[in-house]
Amino acid sequence: MEKFVDRVKIYVRAGKGGDGAVAFLREKYRPKGGPAGGDGGKGGDVILVATSSKHTLLDFKYKKHFVAQNGQPGKGKNMHGKNGEDLIIYVPVGTVVKDANTGKVICDLVREGQRCVVAKGGKGGRGNARFATPTNQAPTYAEKGEPGEEKWIILELKLIADVGLVGFPNAGKSTLLSKLTRANPKIADYPFTTLTPNLGVMELDWERRLVIADIPGLIEDAHKGAGLGHEFLRHIERTKLLAHVIDVSDFREREPLEAFEAINRELYLYSPELAKKPQIVVANKIDALSDKELLKELKKAFEERGYEFYAVSALTGEGLSELKEALWRKYEEISKGQALSKV
Ligand code: GDP
Ligand code: MG
Repeated sequence: MEKFVDRVKIYVRAGKGGDGAVAFLREKYRPKGGPAGGDGGKGGDVILVATSSKHTLLDFKYKKHFVAQNGQPGKGKNMHGKNGEDLIIYVPVGTVVKDANTGKVICDLVREGQRCVVAKGGKGGRGNARFATPTNQAPTYAEKGEPGEEKWIILELKLIADVGLVGFPNAGKSTLLSKLTRANPKIADYPFTTLTPNLGVMELDWERRLVIADIPGLIEDAHKGAGLGHEFLRHIERTKLLAHVIDVSDFREREPLEAFEAINRELYLYSPELAKKPQIVVANKIDALSDKELLKELKKAFEERGYEFYAVSALTGEGLSELKEALWRKYEEISKGQALSKV
């Protein structure tokens, strides 16, 4: 299984433009015919293209230099030099490209097939034929091709959440996230460019891993009409499944079903797209619930509404391994369903 590589620095150099040619037509009775040096070809660009068939930046761990073809020099008889071929580099969808010197974002590749020219090929030089004037009908000079752009760039792979955690403040989302993703503390604090949602990688084994995002402040911000912004929405738009966390430690204070519906209403107002995602219910804090009969009734009520229901304690860890398996199974189910519906 591949190791997760989420940041690399690579060197890109576009092709140099071909030099313009100095040449003259040969005609029988004139030692020097008209100027006929062709233009040089353009240097190839270095172009990044986003593809969903790649998931890591692993390819760049060892190969770090990428150089596009030079343009060919112009030739006699006004022949244009061949343009250098562009160099296409495939990167995973979700790659952010930055200039390594300035740190400035060059492009943010979020869509399949999206392209980004990271180094522009140099223009070909003009041949001497272009410099003929009435006073200088036989120029003996031509332009050099321009150098291709070159730079070091940084590729960063944004983790895109597979599963989102929603629920009231204090339901235990952050705690749950930290427990579900405990084995990967380094990835859990992966920095986002704008808002920083808590992200973590839940790993059942090498083959089965999901990126989980705590979608924080959703409700508070929705009240204020602030919202999380497009930047953040982009990161969670590929989320396939929501785990809706409810606090069941004190039933009387907040009826779990009502809380669940209230969150869903807010979710819809905030983002209908997000609200449409399938949900499973995670009843948290069962360690602080004395009446287990109530829990059974709650489970029944949710299942009647069509939701899978898992009772856990993020604090003690009870029920978490079942929840992990369920998240994975449900995620797989949804992915397969989507793959089928695309056929
Ligand atoms: P969030 O606002 O949804 O992210 O909730 P937090 O994860 O910050 O948790 C809110 C409070 O609930 C914290 O004091 C947690 O320690 C506590 N908490 C979280 N999970 C559990 C649990 O399973 N049992 C108990 N008893 N407390 C919990
Ligand atoms: Mg929190």
